[in-house]
Formats: sequence, C-alpha cells, structure tokens
Amino acid sequence: MGSETSRLLLLCPAMDYLWTPWRYAYVSTAEKTSGCIFCELPKLGDDVRARIVQRAHYCFIVLNTYPYTPGHVMVVPFAHLDELQKLPREAANEMMHLSQKMEQVLRQLYKPDGVNLGMNIGKAAGAGVAGHIHMHVLPRWVADSNFMSVVGETRILPETLDVTYERIKNGLQSTVSP
Ligand SMILES: [Zn+2]
Repeated sequence: MGSETSRLLLLCPAMDYLWTPWRYAYVSTAEKTSGCIFCELPKLGDDVRARIVQRAHYCFIVLNTYPYTPGHVMVVPFAHLDELQKLPREAANEMMHLSQKMEQVLRQLYKPDGVNLGMNIGKAAGAGVAGHIHMHVLPRWVADSNFMSVVGETRILPETLDVTYERIKNGLQSTVSP
C-alpha cells in the first residue's frame, strides 16, 4: 500500500466506520451529564429500562441505545476503570467469557455472517464513554455497510430495542455456557 493511500485511509471516516463501527455507535447522550452512564445504569433499579440483559459477578451486558446493527450489545465491568490493564484478572476472564456467550447467542438469534468484538480505550481511540471500559459485541452481515449507508450514515434497523431486549435476554437464559 502506497503512503498516499495509507494517508487517505487514515483521513477517511467512512473507511474507519466500516472497520470499527462501534467507534460511532454511542451509548447514550446521558454521558453529557456529570455522572458515568455505565455506573448509573446498574443502579437504576430497573434492568428493563436500563436495557441490561444480564448481570454476572463482575460485569453486566447491556444493549447499545444506538446500535450499529440489531443485537449490538456491550459487556461492561461494574467497576469504574478507564484502562483494561486495571481490570482484575477474574473480571477480565468473566468479560471474555460473557463475550463468548454473546457471540453464541447472536449467532443463534441473528445468523450473522460475522461478529465484531472491540474496545476503544480512551477518547483518542474513539471511546464514547472514555472513563469506563466496555466491550462491544455486534453481529455483521456481508451487505450491512455498503457505500451508501456509510456515506449517508443511515442504517436500517429492522427491530425495536424492546424486541432486541426480549430476544437476547431469552437467548442468554437458554444458552449452555461454552
Ligand atoms: Zn463508570
């Protein structure tokens, strides 16, 4: 790849959008308030409203309010930490275990062609909520990010978040752990 092409790729948000869609799928505008959305959601006392589909020991799984594709979730530690290296080993293991489980559930429910798994650590890396690490897991299809949808930034979401919530919650409950 020539240096000019590399430079263009670096400067082209559409390409970035194709390869790391989670950078552009923000959690909620609530982050603009002083608190941390990932600390607040589990304390709401209403997991349906918070769209938390599962609580484990160290982490929880929550739907992305602005999904890139249907089924876009995040695996989030309860602890407010801004770097992966600060996460204790047991919590990191659980985060990966829940990601595996989500991959399984998404494959069963949505029959995707692929799955994106990713973290943006820090504002410069594109984190929507920079103070609190989280792992994005989302199903992908061959035709889900064609040129027009990327340029137009319009995405067709064939189901509501309420439907996604029910499907994934039930899917997690009926899944045998890998
Ligand atoms: Zn937090």
